Amino acid sequence: LRANFSVIQKETGFVNGLIAVLHDITEQEKIDAERREFVANVSHELRTPLTTMRSYLEALADGAWSDKEIAPGFIEVTRTETERMIRLVNDLLQLSKMDSIDYKLNKEWVNFVVFYDRIIDRFEMSKQQNVTFKRMLPNHAIFVEVDEDKMTQVLYNIISNALKYSPEGGQITFAIKEKGDNIIVSVTDEGVGIPKESLGKIFDRFYRVDKARTRKLGGTGLGLAIAKEIIKVHGGKIWAKSREGKGTTIAFSLPYESTEEDEWS
Ligand code: ADP
Repeated sequence: LRANFSVIQKETGFVNGLIAVLHDITEQEKIDAERREFVANVSHELRTPLTTMRSYLEALADGAWSDKEIAPGFIEVTRTETERMIRLVNDLLQLSKMDSIDYKLNKEWVNFVVFYDRIIDRFEMSKQQNVTFKRMLPNHAIFVEVDEDKMTQVLYNIISNALKYSPEGGQITFAIKEKGDNIIVSVTDEGVGIPKESLGKIFDRFYRVDKARTRKLGGTGLGLAIAKEIIKVHGGKIWAKSREGKGTTIAFSLPYESTEEDEWS
């Protein structure tokens, strides 16, 4: 905290007032430090795929291109790295859009039970692992006001993580619960889990529990940070519960007013 003092003096020379202006410099410094760290992270995240691509392209240029055994693999690596950069840049654009002050949601009243069910269907149809899906959804409508595209992205980010970290034969449980003026939407997996000390950090930009492993799985480290921003602008909260080696639950709340109509539709 920094204080600037100004003395109010009358022509007579008597001091009859004092103005103190307090600046919260710690807050400003924190923001500056975060911004610097963010730029450093972005640069690092972009440099990694670029340097990988450069070395593979150099090898191809040096003659590997004519080797039918090696060349396709090398080209595939550069393609995967390009895809990763595109994902990263898209995620960054999404975050920067949400950081701008005139960010607007396109909200509509949506029956969240049907909406969630459809998204789960999509994952169930396209999943390539041996993972079972369990749905614990209410059998009545729950109308909440959300931006469907944004909410789809939140669920997509959470469910793809649950699949990524699920073991062979694991189960993923999808639930919606009503709790007071909120609904709680959750995704629970039986995967590797998250260490206690990391639980609060997984929603930070670029935070990963295990950098090498998640990079191999193709993550950008921004998925949950984006989810957190979207839930925040919807007036909800997002959190994680986990036990290492047992599994993880990612849950979020959304404001909800239950009405008679919902109960019967
Ligand atoms: P990423 O693109 O790396 O998946 P996220 O922001 O989606 O980035 O997640 C941040 C980190 O949180 C992940 O790198 C991973 O370490 C951890 N994490 C997220 N979801 C799970 C989960 N269901 N099980 C275990 N770890 C998870």
